[in-house]
Amino acid sequence: MDFNLTKNLEYCASIVDPMLSFLYYSHIPVMIVSLLFGIFVIKNSSNKILSRSFFGLASSFSFWTAFSLFIWTHYESSSQTMFAWLLVDTFDLLFFVFAFYFVYVYLNKKDISFFQKSLFLLPLIPLILSFSTKYGLNGFDLTDCVSQEGVFYSKFIFSSEIFIFLLIIINIVSNLLKTWKNKPERKEILLLSFGVVFFLISFFVSGYIADSTDYYQYEQIGLFSMLVFLGFLAYIIVEFKAFKVRLFGAQAIVIGLITLIGSKLFTAEAGVNRTITIVTLGFVSLFGYFLIKSVKKEIEARERIEKLADELEHANERLHVLDQQKSQFVSIASHQLRAPLTAIKGYLSMIMEGDYGKVEGELREIIQRVMDSSNNLVTIVGDFLDVSRIEQGKMAYDWKDFDLKPLVETVGNEMKPVADKRGLEFSVSVKEGKSYMVHGDMNKLKQVFTNLVDNSIKYTPKGKVWVELSQPTPGTVRFEVNDNGIGIAAETLPKLFEKFTRAEGANDVNVIGTGLGLYVAKEMVLAHEGGKIWAESDGKGKGSTFVVELKALQQ
Ligand code: ADP
Repeated sequence: MDFNLTKNLEYCASIVDPMLSFLYYSHIPVMIVSLLFGIFVIKNSSNKILSRSFFGLASSFSFWTAFSLFIWTHYESSSQTMFAWLLVDTFDLLFFVFAFYFVYVYLNKKDISFFQKSLFLLPLIPLILSFSTKYGLNGFDLTDCVSQEGVFYSKFIFSSEIFIFLLIIINIVSNLLKTWKNKPERKEILLLSFGVVFFLISFFVSGYIADSTDYYQYEQIGLFSMLVFLGFLAYIIVEFKAFKVRLFGAQAIVIGLITLIGSKLFTAEAGVNRTITIVTLGFVSLFGYFLIKSVKKEIEARERIEKLADELEHANERLHVLDQQKSQFVSIASHQLRAPLTAIKGYLSMIMEGDYGKVEGELREIIQRVMDSSNNLVTIVGDFLDVSRIEQGKMAYDWKDFDLKPLVETVGNEMKPVADKRGLEFSVSVKEGKSYMVHGDMNKLKQVFTNLVDNSIKYTPKGKVWVELSQPTPGTVRFEVNDNGIGIAAETLPKLFEKFTRAEGANDVNVIGTGLGLYVAKEMVLAHEGGKIWAESDGKGKGSTFVVELKALQQ
């Protein structure tokens, strides 16, 4: 290439020399960190196309910065400078192309075909072709320290960049309009647009101000702001790996600081200045090492916690499944037990009634015990079935309006012989002149009342059991079973209605029991509108009262 180089190095030197330290200072960190941003995104983003296009943007910007530094610092060697200048212009246009490609891939969430990619590179063709012609960059004028270009050259670059910039804006706006209603997506697009647009605007504005004021430091400041927006974009891409970003942030700061101070070594004169720089560099490196180490440690701890939480969630899900399987198993097993039990009970009562010959004396006593045991078994199997129905949400209720008074009297009549057999006083009292109409499931309530009365009989070795039905307020009906039996300790009371709760001492009085009856009773009562159930006791040995309240139907 034939360059027209006027020998006036002094003029260029007068512009460049005062800026020299600042030039290294601004270019080297930007060059390194922008490349690091690109590598970081490639390593941390699962979106391959997006991270590659970002890497293209970051690395072309990094190369541009490198060649620009070369020009600034080698203005006296003409042919190398001209070559670097051509590369600067190429990368200049290239990072606009990559910016567009990046925005396009990000917004459309898909790559483009090879053909479209070649279209993207179209603006580069005239530029490259112009290099060896009079329209291209063909000289460097050291009298005013600017390049000599063909008439269309800089206009072409500038208008291509403006054209690409407009394309980017159009793409962003049309995507924003499409997704305006989707808030998270809108936010993502706005953040991305902010990053890209300001990245490019920093370039335009700083270049423009530098050119028009001849104060080239502005261009260097522009580099930093471009870097900031590039970092911002890297952050959005890997936002979901926020922990890693923090580590990266710490590393970027430390590396940035080390390169900043390190690049000062090139410019600082020997002596005190250099010593101070070296000492500072040492301190910063040490501090940076510990900073990165501690951030890493914290991230590892967080990742461990996240992993544990994940495992816990899995274990929980597994337990949930197991729990359901258990309920199903209990339900099936209980159903299977029911049929043979019914047969046993049937035959036993036929034997007792003498259908197979006379049963007397000790044999009669033993068969009676077998009968009691099989009755207990029926209750236990019934409890298990109820629990599994409740847990699977399959308990079916038969809702009706009915009078609670006859129901309570029936329960009383059925339970009286049981109390008599245990030698207990037993009474049922219904306060007269009130209505006991409720809306509920008659069979379930009968089961609940029978269970409560049965418990009172079981847990009262001697003394009395008395049942009351009343209407404490016009809106409520209260069923109450009192006994002066073994009572309940204050610490047991709150847990009484939980599954498998049996009070200390319950076994001494009544060995057979599962601790499921009250749980089932509670679930059944709570299924009724306004239903409440609770127990009262003054303590061990002081008797107990079990209360069920239901909503009274207004007459
Ligand atoms: P189970 O009677 O089969 O053990 P329940 O669920 O019916 O199961 O009762 C749970 C526990 O509540 C009993 O084991 C017993 O400790 C206590 N309990 C229930 N009713 C009474 C009562 N009337 N007096 C004293 N303790 C009682």
